[in-house]
Amino acid sequence: DYLPYYTAGEVVSGFGRGSKSLGCPTANLSEEVVDALPSEFETGIYYGWASLQKTIYKMVMSIGWNPFYKNDKKSMEIHLLHKFEDDFYGKELKVIVLGYIRPELNFSSVDELIKAINNDIEVADKSLDEATSVKYKEDPFLKS
Ligand code: ADP
Ligand code: MG
Repeated sequence: DYLPYYTAGEVVSGFGRGSKSLGCPTANLSEEVVDALPSEFETGIYYGWASLQKTIYKMVMSIGWNPFYKNDKKSMEIHLLHKFEDDFYGKELKVIVLGYIRPELNFSSVDELIKAINNDIEVADKSLDEATSVKYKEDPFLKS
């Protein structure tokens, strides 16, 4: 099994698909980080912990096909379960991916998509409160 998966990288700008306008900004990680993902990493939605400037947050992550590269390459986008006053492009984000929530799905409306995102956030939030998840919050990797 490839989980938990530890990785880190700089927050880069994404393709502006309007994540923020859907109420769910996603910090995109650089191409090198995505290229290093084990090939078994299926596209879909995951949960785990992230650290940004020494603070640890719950996160929900999407691994998807990147339309920039005609869907030949994956993209990795992370939503932190926290309300930030400012953007943090260029900062380092460290993550520990702990679990899989669901595969990538096609939605017939923006409304359905928003519902799914809210549900993913709830699932991530609850899963990260379980003892098996909580122990990773103290992982030295996130604090280094
Ligand atoms: P982009 O297409 O550039 O990724 P988004 O609309 O997805 O644009 O917004 C992502 C940016 O929003 C992140 O890079 C980060 O700087 C900022 N941001 C603010 N709050 C959050 C959050 N809770 N989770 C992730 N990114 C956030
Ligand atoms: Mg994004």
